[in-house]
Amino acid sequence: MSLSEQALSYVRAISPYQPGKPITELAREMGIPVDSIVKLASNENPLGMSPKAKKAVEAAIAGIERYPDQFELIAKVAERCGVAAGQVVLGNGSNDVLDLIARVFLAPGRSAVFAQHAFAVYPLATLSTGAELVATPAKNYGHDLAAMRAAIRPDTRIVWIANPNNPTGNFLPYPEVRAFLEAVPKDVVVVLDEAYNEYLPPADRVDVAGWLADFPNLVVCRTFSKIFGLAGLRVGYALASAEIADLMNRVRQPFNVNNLALAAAVAALDDHEFIKASYELNQRGMVQIIAGLERLGLEYIKPHGNFVTFRVGNGAAVNQKLLQQGVIVRPIGGYGLPEWLRVTIGAEAENARFLAALEQAV
Ligand SMILES: *Cc1c(COP(=O)(O)O)cnc(C)c1O
Repeated sequence: MSLSEQALSYVRAISPYQPGKPITELAREMGIPVDSIVKLASNENPLGMSPKAKKAVEAAIAGIERYPDQFELIAKVAERCGVAAGQVVLGNGSNDVLDLIARVFLAPGRSAVFAQHAFAVYPLATLSTGAELVATPAKNYGHDLAAMRAAIRPDTRIVWIANPNNPTGNFLPYPEVRAFLEAVPKDVVVVLDEAYNEYLPPADRVDVAGWLADFPNLVVCRTFSKIFGLAGLRVGYALASAEIADLMNRVRQPFNVNNLALAAAVAALDDHEFIKASYELNQRGMVQIIAGLERLGLEYIKPHGNFVTFRVGNGAAVNQKLLQQGVIVRPIGGYGLPEWLRVTIGAEAENARFLAALEQAV
Protein backbone atom coordinates (compact mmCIF):
# COMPACT_ATOMS: atom_id res chain seq x y z
CA MET A 1 0.00 0.00 0.00
CA SER A 2 1.34 3.46 -0.89
CA LEU A 3 2.01 6.07 1.75
CA SER A 4 -0.73 8.20 0.28
CA GLU A 5 -3.21 5.38 0.79
CA GLN A 6 -2.19 5.25 4.46
CA ALA A 7 -3.17 8.90 4.88
CA LEU A 8 -6.55 9.79 6.33
CA SER A 9 -9.09 9.62 3.52
CA TYR A 10 -10.60 12.97 4.50
CA VAL A 11 -7.18 14.61 4.27
CA ARG A 12 -6.60 13.14 0.81
CA ALA A 13 -9.98 14.52 -0.27
CA ILE A 14 -9.06 18.16 0.56
CA SER A 15 -8.43 20.46 -2.41
CA PRO A 16 -5.38 22.60 -1.69
CA TYR A 17 -5.76 26.33 -0.99
CA GLN A 18 -4.85 28.48 -3.99
CA PRO A 19 -3.03 31.60 -2.84
CA GLY A 20 -2.70 34.79 -4.87
CA LYS A 21 0.20 34.55 -7.32
CA PRO A 22 3.36 35.99 -5.73
CA ILE A 23 4.97 38.93 -7.57
CA THR A 24 8.29 37.06 -7.74
CA GLU A 25 6.62 34.08 -9.44
CA LEU A 26 5.05 36.21 -12.18
CA ALA A 27 8.36 38.02 -12.65
CA ARG A 28 10.10 34.66 -13.21
CA GLU A 29 7.39 33.40 -15.55
CA MET A 30 7.18 36.52 -17.70
CA GLY A 31 10.82 37.58 -17.46
CA ILE A 32 9.76 41.06 -16.33
CA PRO A 33 11.11 43.12 -13.42
CA VAL A 34 9.44 42.74 -10.03
CA ASP A 35 8.83 46.47 -9.73
CA SER A 36 6.82 46.59 -12.96
CA ILE A 37 4.22 44.25 -11.48
CA VAL A 38 1.06 45.35 -9.70
CA LYS A 39 -0.30 42.77 -7.25
CA LEU A 40 -3.91 43.29 -6.24
CA ALA A 41 -4.64 39.68 -5.45
CA SER A 42 -4.49 39.07 -1.71
CA ASN A 43 -6.27 41.99 -0.04
CA GLU A 44 -3.01 43.34 1.33
CA ASN A 45 -2.64 46.93 2.52
CA PRO A 46 -1.26 49.18 -0.26
CA LEU A 47 0.27 51.49 2.38
CA GLY A 48 2.45 48.68 3.69
CA MET A 49 2.76 48.35 7.45
CA SER A 50 2.20 51.00 10.08
CA PRO A 51 5.42 52.95 10.68
CA LYS A 52 4.89 52.51 14.43
CA ALA A 53 4.67 48.75 13.95
CA LYS A 54 7.84 48.81 11.87
CA LYS A 55 9.73 50.57 14.68
CA ALA A 56 8.40 48.05 17.18
CA VAL A 57 9.57 45.15 15.01
CA GLU A 58 13.03 46.66 14.75
CA ALA A 59 13.20 47.04 18.52
CA ALA A 60 11.89 43.50 19.10
CA ILE A 61 14.77 41.96 17.15
CA ALA A 62 16.85 42.55 20.27
CA GLY A 63 14.89 39.90 22.18
CA ILE A 64 14.57 37.33 19.43
CA GLU A 65 16.49 34.60 21.33
CA ARG A 66 13.65 34.50 23.89
CA TYR A 67 10.38 32.62 23.55
CA PRO A 68 7.46 34.99 22.97
CA ASP A 69 5.17 36.28 25.73
CA GLN A 70 1.60 36.96 24.59
CA PHE A 71 0.65 38.89 27.74
CA GLU A 72 0.87 42.43 26.39
CA LEU A 73 -1.01 41.88 23.12
CA ILE A 74 -3.75 39.89 24.87
CA ALA A 75 -4.15 42.63 27.48
CA LYS A 76 -4.30 45.30 24.79
CA VAL A 77 -6.85 43.46 22.63
CA ALA A 78 -8.95 42.68 25.71
CA GLU A 79 -8.93 46.32 26.79
CA ARG A 80 -9.70 47.56 23.29
CA CYS A 81 -12.58 45.12 22.86
CA GLY A 82 -13.93 45.39 26.39
CA VAL A 83 -13.53 41.72 27.26
CA ALA A 84 -11.48 39.85 29.87
CA ALA A 85 -7.97 38.68 28.96
CA GLY A 86 -9.22 35.11 29.31
CA GLN A 87 -11.56 35.71 26.39
CA VAL A 88 -8.81 36.47 23.88
CA VAL A 89 -7.04 33.76 21.87
CA LEU A 90 -4.15 34.76 19.62
CA GLY A 91 -3.41 33.04 16.35
CA ASN A 92 -0.67 32.80 13.76
CA GLY A 93 -2.99 34.77 11.52
CA SER A 94 -6.71 34.38 12.04
CA ASN A 95 -6.45 31.26 9.86
CA ASP A 96 -4.79 29.62 12.84
CA VAL A 97 -7.65 30.70 15.09
CA LEU A 98 -10.21 29.20 12.69
CA ASP A 99 -8.27 25.93 12.82
CA LEU A 100 -8.25 25.98 16.64
CA ILE A 101 -12.03 26.35 16.75
CA ALA A 102 -12.42 23.47 14.32
CA ARG A 103 -10.10 21.26 16.36
CA VAL A 104 -12.05 21.96 19.55
CA PHE A 105 -15.48 21.19 18.12
CA LEU A 106 -15.19 19.07 14.97
CA ALA A 107 -14.34 15.42 14.27
CA PRO A 108 -15.65 12.62 12.05
CA GLY A 109 -19.37 12.24 12.67
CA ARG A 110 -19.88 15.98 13.21
CA SER A 111 -20.64 18.73 10.73
CA ALA A 112 -20.18 22.44 10.11
CA VAL A 113 -22.41 24.71 8.05
CA PHE A 114 -21.04 27.30 5.66
CA ALA A 115 -22.35 29.31 2.71
CA GLN A 116 -21.52 28.81 -0.95
CA HIS A 117 -18.86 31.36 -2.06
CA ALA A 118 -17.68 31.91 1.54
CA PHE A 119 -14.02 32.05 2.59
CA ALA A 120 -12.02 28.95 1.54
CA VAL A 121 -10.44 28.40 4.93
CA TYR A 122 -13.77 27.25 6.44
CA PRO A 123 -13.90 24.15 4.24
CA LEU A 124 -10.20 23.54 4.90
CA ALA A 125 -10.54 23.84 8.67
CA THR A 126 -13.68 21.68 8.66
CA LEU A 127 -12.53 18.92 6.32
CA SER A 128 -9.12 18.55 7.96
CA THR A 129 -10.87 17.33 11.12
CA GLY A 130 -12.86 14.68 9.24
CA ALA A 131 -16.11 16.50 9.91
CA GLU A 132 -18.68 16.94 7.17
CA LEU A 133 -19.18 20.27 5.44
CA VAL A 134 -22.76 21.34 4.83
CA ALA A 135 -22.88 24.10 2.20
CA THR A 136 -25.97 26.25 1.72
CA PRO A 137 -26.67 28.07 -1.57
CA ALA A 138 -25.73 31.74 -1.62
CA LYS A 139 -28.33 34.51 -1.73
CA ASN A 140 -27.22 37.35 -4.02
CA TYR A 141 -23.68 35.93 -3.69
CA GLY A 142 -23.76 36.29 0.11
CA HIS A 143 -24.83 34.23 3.12
CA ASP A 144 -28.46 33.14 3.26
CA LEU A 145 -28.89 33.06 7.02
CA ALA A 146 -32.34 31.46 6.88
CA ALA A 147 -30.95 28.64 4.74
CA MET A 148 -27.98 28.29 7.11
CA ARG A 149 -30.28 28.06 10.13
CA ALA A 150 -32.35 25.41 8.33
CA ALA A 151 -29.21 23.43 7.40
CA ILE A 152 -28.14 22.97 11.05
CA ARG A 153 -28.41 19.26 11.91
CA PRO A 154 -28.21 17.49 15.25
CA ASP A 155 -24.52 16.75 14.54
CA THR A 156 -23.69 20.36 13.57
CA ARG A 157 -21.21 22.00 15.93
CA ILE A 158 -20.04 25.09 14.01
CA VAL A 159 -21.55 27.66 11.65
CA TRP A 160 -19.01 29.75 9.75
CA ILE A 161 -19.94 33.32 8.78
CA ALA A 162 -17.65 35.90 7.18
CA ASN A 163 -18.88 39.47 7.47
CA PRO A 164 -17.99 41.08 5.11
CA ASN A 165 -17.46 37.92 3.11
CA ASN A 166 -14.38 37.15 1.06
CA PRO A 167 -14.27 36.72 -1.98
CA THR A 168 -17.66 38.31 -2.71
CA GLY A 169 -17.57 41.38 -0.45
CA ASN A 170 -21.15 40.86 0.73
CA PHE A 171 -22.17 42.37 4.04
CA LEU A 172 -24.88 41.19 6.44
CA PRO A 173 -26.38 44.03 8.48
CA TYR A 174 -25.68 43.29 12.13
CA PRO A 175 -29.32 43.11 13.25
CA GLU A 176 -29.65 40.09 10.92
CA VAL A 177 -26.59 38.48 12.46
CA ARG A 178 -28.02 39.02 15.94
CA ALA A 179 -31.37 37.54 14.94
CA PHE A 180 -29.47 34.51 13.59
CA LEU A 181 -27.66 34.09 16.91
CA GLU A 182 -30.99 34.18 18.69
CA ALA A 183 -32.37 31.50 16.37
CA VAL A 184 -29.54 28.94 16.44
CA PRO A 185 -29.34 26.23 19.11
CA LYS A 186 -27.20 27.37 22.04
CA ASP A 187 -24.88 24.40 21.68
CA VAL A 188 -23.84 25.31 18.14
CA VAL A 189 -20.81 27.60 17.87
CA VAL A 190 -21.26 30.56 15.53
CA VAL A 191 -17.95 31.85 14.18
CA LEU A 192 -18.20 35.43 13.01
CA ASP A 193 -15.13 36.26 10.97
CA GLU A 194 -14.62 40.02 10.82
CA ALA A 195 -11.35 40.22 8.89
CA TYR A 196 -12.57 43.34 7.05
CA ASN A 197 -14.41 44.97 9.96
CA GLU A 198 -12.14 48.01 10.08
CA TYR A 199 -12.98 48.82 6.45
CA LEU A 200 -16.70 49.18 7.19
CA PRO A 201 -18.03 52.73 7.39
CA PRO A 202 -18.51 53.51 11.10
CA ALA A 203 -22.31 53.58 10.64
CA ASP A 204 -22.30 49.90 9.55
CA ARG A 205 -20.17 48.68 12.44
CA VAL A 206 -21.48 47.12 15.61
CA ASP A 207 -19.43 46.19 18.66
CA VAL A 208 -20.11 42.45 18.61
CA ALA A 209 -17.67 41.83 21.46
CA GLY A 210 -20.47 43.23 23.58
CA TRP A 211 -22.67 40.33 22.42
CA LEU A 212 -20.46 37.66 23.98
CA ALA A 213 -22.21 38.02 27.33
CA ASP A 214 -25.54 37.19 25.66
CA PHE A 215 -24.20 34.51 23.34
CA PRO A 216 -21.55 32.25 24.92
CA ASN A 217 -21.59 30.23 21.65
CA LEU A 218 -20.31 33.21 19.62
CA VAL A 219 -16.67 33.37 18.50
CA VAL A 220 -15.49 36.57 16.80
CA CYS A 221 -12.33 36.46 14.67
CA ARG A 222 -10.25 39.44 13.60
CA THR A 223 -6.88 39.85 11.92
CA PHE A 224 -3.87 42.13 11.69
CA SER A 225 -3.37 41.06 8.05
CA LYS A 226 -5.72 43.54 6.41
CA ILE A 227 -6.08 47.16 7.53
CA PHE A 228 -3.13 46.84 9.94
CA GLY A 229 -0.88 45.75 7.07
CA LEU A 230 0.81 42.82 8.85
CA ALA A 231 -0.15 39.91 6.57
CA GLY A 232 3.42 38.65 6.35
CA LEU A 233 3.89 38.55 10.13
CA ARG A 234 0.85 36.31 10.70
CA VAL A 235 -1.22 37.50 13.64
CA GLY A 236 -4.93 37.42 14.37
CA TYR A 237 -7.20 36.78 17.32
CA ALA A 238 -10.49 35.36 18.50
CA LEU A 239 -12.84 36.79 21.11
CA ALA A 240 -14.95 34.15 22.81
CA SER A 241 -16.51 33.11 26.08
CA ALA A 242 -13.86 32.25 28.68
CA GLU A 243 -14.98 28.63 28.40
CA ILE A 244 -14.37 28.37 24.64
CA ALA A 245 -11.19 30.47 24.79
CA ASP A 246 -9.78 28.10 27.39
CA LEU A 247 -10.51 25.09 25.16
CA MET A 248 -8.94 26.79 22.14
CA ASN A 249 -5.84 27.56 24.17
CA ARG A 250 -5.46 23.88 25.05
CA VAL A 251 -4.99 22.92 21.38
CA ARG A 252 -3.01 26.05 20.51
CA GLN A 253 0.74 25.72 20.05
CA PRO A 254 2.11 27.53 23.11
CA PHE A 255 4.26 29.90 21.04
CA ASN A 256 2.09 30.27 17.94
CA VAL A 257 2.68 34.01 17.49
CA ASN A 258 6.29 35.12 17.17
CA ASN A 259 8.01 38.00 18.98
CA LEU A 260 8.08 40.32 15.98
CA ALA A 261 4.41 39.78 15.21
CA LEU A 262 3.41 40.40 18.83
CA ALA A 263 5.39 43.64 19.02
CA ALA A 264 4.07 44.84 15.66
CA ALA A 265 0.45 44.10 16.56
CA VAL A 266 0.68 45.96 19.89
CA ALA A 267 2.05 49.03 18.11
CA ALA A 268 -0.33 48.75 15.14
CA LEU A 269 -3.39 48.86 17.41
CA ASP A 270 -2.29 52.31 18.57
CA ASP A 271 -1.42 53.72 15.15
CA HIS A 272 -4.75 55.45 14.64
CA GLU A 273 -3.26 57.73 11.99
CA PHE A 274 -2.22 54.77 9.85
CA ILE A 275 -5.58 53.04 10.29
CA LYS A 276 -7.40 56.22 9.29
CA ALA A 277 -5.14 56.74 6.26
CA SER A 278 -5.67 53.10 5.21
CA TYR A 279 -9.43 53.40 5.57
CA GLU A 280 -9.59 56.64 3.60
CA LEU A 281 -7.31 55.36 0.83
CA ASN A 282 -9.58 52.32 0.55
CA GLN A 283 -12.72 54.43 0.34
CA ARG A 284 -11.22 56.56 -2.44
CA GLY A 285 -9.91 53.51 -4.29
CA MET A 286 -13.30 51.86 -4.07
CA VAL A 287 -14.89 54.86 -5.79
CA GLN A 288 -12.14 54.86 -8.42
CA ILE A 289 -12.46 51.15 -9.22
CA ILE A 290 -16.25 51.16 -9.26
CA ALA A 291 -16.24 54.14 -11.63
CA GLY A 292 -13.82 52.25 -13.89
CA LEU A 293 -15.90 49.07 -13.86
CA GLU A 294 -19.05 51.04 -14.64
CA ARG A 295 -17.30 52.78 -17.51
CA LEU A 296 -16.44 49.35 -18.92
CA GLY A 297 -20.01 48.18 -18.35
CA LEU A 298 -18.94 45.37 -16.00
CA GLU A 299 -21.20 44.02 -13.28
CA TYR A 300 -19.79 44.04 -9.72
CA ILE A 301 -20.91 43.08 -6.24
CA LYS A 302 -21.28 46.10 -3.94
CA PRO A 303 -18.01 46.01 -2.00
CA HIS A 304 -17.69 46.28 1.80
CA GLY A 305 -14.05 45.34 2.31
CA ASN A 306 -10.78 46.24 0.58
CA PHE A 307 -11.58 44.42 -2.66
CA VAL A 308 -14.11 44.44 -5.49
CA THR A 309 -15.53 41.35 -7.19
CA PHE A 310 -16.61 41.86 -10.78
CA ARG A 311 -17.93 39.81 -13.68
CA VAL A 312 -15.92 39.41 -16.87
CA GLY A 313 -17.43 36.33 -18.52
CA ASN A 314 -14.38 34.07 -18.74
CA GLY A 315 -12.46 34.78 -15.54
CA ALA A 316 -9.50 32.54 -16.38
CA ALA A 317 -9.00 34.08 -19.85
CA VAL A 318 -9.24 37.68 -18.64
CA ASN A 319 -6.95 36.86 -15.73
CA GLN A 320 -4.36 35.54 -18.18
CA LYS A 321 -4.52 38.77 -20.20
CA LEU A 322 -4.07 40.80 -17.02
CA LEU A 323 -1.05 38.69 -16.01
CA GLN A 324 0.51 39.31 -19.42
CA GLN A 325 0.30 43.03 -18.60
CA GLY A 326 1.91 42.50 -15.20
CA VAL A 327 -1.30 42.86 -13.19
CA ILE A 328 -2.16 40.16 -10.66
CA VAL A 329 -5.76 39.86 -9.47
CA ARG A 330 -7.55 36.83 -8.04
CA PRO A 331 -9.48 34.35 -10.17
CA ILE A 332 -12.23 32.81 -8.04
CA GLY A 333 -13.33 29.82 -10.11
CA GLY A 334 -12.39 27.69 -7.10
CA TYR A 335 -15.15 29.49 -5.18
CA GLY A 336 -17.72 28.52 -7.81
CA LEU A 337 -17.44 31.93 -9.49
CA PRO A 338 -15.58 31.21 -12.76
CA GLU A 339 -17.04 34.28 -14.50
CA TRP A 340 -15.75 36.64 -11.83
CA LEU A 341 -12.46 38.13 -10.70
CA ARG A 342 -11.58 39.76 -7.39
CA VAL A 343 -9.35 42.81 -7.29
CA THR A 344 -7.85 44.25 -4.13
CA ILE A 345 -8.27 48.00 -3.81
CA GLY A 346 -4.77 49.42 -4.13
CA ALA A 347 -3.19 52.84 -4.19
CA GLU A 348 -4.48 55.26 -6.83
CA ALA A 349 -1.76 54.49 -9.41
CA GLU A 350 -2.17 50.73 -8.94
CA ASN A 351 -5.92 50.98 -9.43
CA ALA A 352 -5.36 53.02 -12.59
CA ARG A 353 -2.87 50.41 -13.92
CA PHE A 354 -5.40 47.68 -13.19
CA LEU A 355 -8.26 49.53 -14.93
CA ALA A 356 -6.15 50.27 -18.00
CA ALA A 357 -5.06 46.62 -18.22
CA LEU A 358 -8.63 45.46 -17.72
CA GLU A 359 -9.83 47.66 -20.56
CA GLN A 360 -7.31 45.89 -22.81
CA ALA A 361 -8.29 42.49 -21.48
CA VAL A 362 -12.07 42.52 -21.84
C1 LIG B 1 -7.87 37.59 4.88
C2 LIG B 1 -8.92 36.89 5.64
C3 LIG B 1 -8.64 36.41 6.90
C4 LIG B 1 -7.31 36.66 7.55
O1 LIG B 1 -6.42 35.68 7.39
P1 LIG B 1 -5.07 35.75 8.23
O2 LIG B 1 -4.79 34.33 8.51
O3 LIG B 1 -5.35 36.51 9.48
O4 LIG B 1 -4.07 36.42 7.37
C5 LIG B 1 -9.64 35.78 7.61
N1 LIG B 1 -10.87 35.66 7.10
C6 LIG B 1 -11.19 36.16 5.91
C7 LIG B 1 -12.58 36.06 5.43
C8 LIG B 1 -10.21 36.76 5.14
O5 LIG B 1 -10.51 37.21 3.93
